[in-house]
Amino acid sequence: MGTEFVYAQPVKIYFGEGCFARLGEVLAELGVQRAVLVCGRHFAPEAEAMAADDSRIAAVFPGVEQNPQLSGVRETVRLCRETGADAVIGVGGGSSIDTAKFAAAVAPNEGEALDYYRGLRAFDANSRLRIVAVPTTAGTGSEVTQVSVVSHESEKKTINHPAFMPSAAIVDPRLSATVPPRTTMNTGLDALAHALEGYWSRNHQPIPDLKAVEAVRLVLENLERAYRDGSDMEARANMAYASLLGGLSFALPKTAACHACSYPLSELYHLPHGEACAFTLDSFVRVNADARLEELCRRAGLKDTEELAARIRALKALGGLRTRLSELGEVDIPALAAACAAHPLMNNNPVRLDDKRLAAMFEALR
Ligand code: NAD
Repeated sequence: MGTEFVYAQPVKIYFGEGCFARLGEVLAELGVQRAVLVCGRHFAPEAEAMAADDSRIAAVFPGVEQNPQLSGVRETVRLCRETGADAVIGVGGGSSIDTAKFAAAVAPNEGEALDYYRGLRAFDANSRLRIVAVPTTAGTGSEVTQVSVVSHESEKKTINHPAFMPSAAIVDPRLSATVPPRTTMNTGLDALAHALEGYWSRNHQPIPDLKAVEAVRLVLENLERAYRDGSDMEARANMAYASLLGGLSFALPKTAACHACSYPLSELYHLPHGEACAFTLDSFVRVNADARLEELCRRAGLKDTEELAARIRALKALGGLRTRLSELGEVDIPALAAACAAHPLMNNNPVRLDDKRLAAMFEALR
């Protein structure tokens, strides 16, 4: 094989139904004495009960919202400093895990979260709290990436830094049983977008490629089942695994055009992250169709890229996701296309796309 690559995956992964029960063991192995647990509203009662039971959970921040705000990071940092925490546990979707990661990287250092967000202070991978990531959605793969996505005012920023790499990931599919159908569809299509974008990224690598093919196959075989019946634990487990593989598919190669467009779509029209990715995913399957992508389709059990695009459209229709710009209100297509073209992830796309070509794509989605 003529390809040269460097591959590393530093997160210890615990996977399996019921494995969240091993949290205490994971904390002991990491030598954690005092942790702050970060979660969204759906997990708040359980988090409070856990804190009452285990003295190592020194405080809970239960206020994470979708497209998490820097204010949540600030509050978590305050709790970490107040309790002298040595770890942050993020339990939830990507929003909770990303809040936990950002806070863990700020808390033991000088300065406030906003200084780091604005780039006035630099993160330091050698000076951060330990991070335990526990996903409860099957989508972002944040449990195995060094990415944190946080918003401040109207800006949604992705920061990629080794300081955000979790020390351990606990992936327990049972935790996703309560995710509502629409969120199941949004997040499942996010996992699919990660696999496809990692695969077609200009920085693609052989080991992540293998994971991408398997993630695509698993999403296409299980997302509809998980959507139709959230208690179908086999489908939930396969989706949790697909999401993990999706994270490992893009962690090194990074994502491309579809994610570049998702940021303006979320910032300007408030689409949840997965729905924003799904909005353009089938369009980019067609734009990026080449011999490699045809090969992925065949290996994932599909005839070709046209079938892949059709399957994505069918999943979006099933989930009632928005697919036309007219459903988002007044859209200024040239301004949207310019914002997408200017996003740094656009440089990662295998096909070069300028704002004119993106505007033509959005015209077709009007
Ligand atoms: P989310 O974390 O915003 O959660 C969506 C909603 O589902 C929330 O209301 C949440 O409280 C609820 N929820 C979560 N788990 C639940 C459960 N088990 N039962 C009931 N409700 C539940 O959604 P997400 O799609 O997982 O994360 C999206 C965020 O992650 C975005 O900000 C996105 O940009 C970011 N992201 C990060 C990475 C990364 O590598 N760090 C990758 C992709 C996306």
